[in-house]
Amino acid sequence: MSQNSNWKCDGIPKNDITYKDIGGKHEIQENFGDSCSACGLPKESMAIAPPLLPPSPPWGWIVGTTIVVGGIIAIAMVNPCLFERLFVKCPTEQENRTYTSRYTSASQQASESLNKFLKSGDLKTMQTAREELNGFIEQIGSLKKLKNEKCCPIDVYPLVEKELPGLKANLIEIDAFISVEKLGVEIVNLGQAAQTIDELEKAKNGLKNAIASIDKITSPFLAEKINVKRGEYQKQLNILDEKSKALDEKLKQERIEKQRLAEERQIEEERQRQQEQSNNFGYSPSDDGVLRNPRVPKKDGLPSCDVALFGNCKP
Ligand SMILES: [Zn+2]
Repeated sequence: MSQNSNWKCDGIPKNDITYKDIGGKHEIQENFGDSCSACGLPKESMAIAPPLLPPSPPWGWIVGTTIVVGGIIAIAMVNPCLFERLFVKCPTEQENRTYTSRYTSASQQASESLNKFLKSGDLKTMQTAREELNGFIEQIGSLKKLKNEKCCPIDVYPLVEKELPGLKANLIEIDAFISVEKLGVEIVNLGQAAQTIDELEKAKNGLKNAIASIDKITSPFLAEKINVKRGEYQKQLNILDEKSKALDEKLKQERIEKQRLAEERQIEEERQRQQEQSNNFGYSPSDDGVLRNPRVPKKDGLPSCDVALFGNCKP
């Protein structure tokens, strides 16, 4: 502190320090020494506390970091996988070979199940082939779940990515085909067992629906199979048509026969009635051709009948 510079004190410290037992507000006092002659506060107590300056930036650290980061970026640009490989576990060659052979086998078997499905005629074989295909799709799909990093590629991944959507689409088409055929089998059985016109109509409508449903499956892969199946349904439909026509005809004939019999019966009844009337008014030959006494009309006009005497009378 300069002894020469004078300073003023009012007894209240300006430097945010609390002084014990000295100070206290007083008239402004000019001082020339190190402490106030009025209150004893030191000269520095009247100096306003300097504002807290922000710390100067750690230039050394910034420059150092910039150099390191820049270096890392530069290296990454030259060899982008260098760092990624530090953090990602890449598949080994052996693993890659395993994945490839797993894919090849599943893919081959998937196409075998597709063929099996295409060649199958019965529902059970179709369903078996469908289940097999589903299994192989899952196997191929499990390869797609492996982490295929840019710097750690799985060799077979592009093939999996290419093949999987097609196989999944095939599975959906197969499912649609099977669901129509399931119903179709039931309807064909129903038609074969049908005995009445109603049952036949029901089966025929079912077959028409089956044909409409199978035509809705627009799959080039199943096109031929769809054609064959439509033909089968159509054939069954024709058989049922014939069957219901025959049944119709049979029922018609039965009605005609029934009517004919009814008419015959009526004619016979009429004949008998007339004969009975004529019997009441004269001799008539009995079964043995012998003429008997005429029947004597009873008082109420109805023919009397004495079986013991006449034998051939009717009640
Ligand atoms: Zn003072």
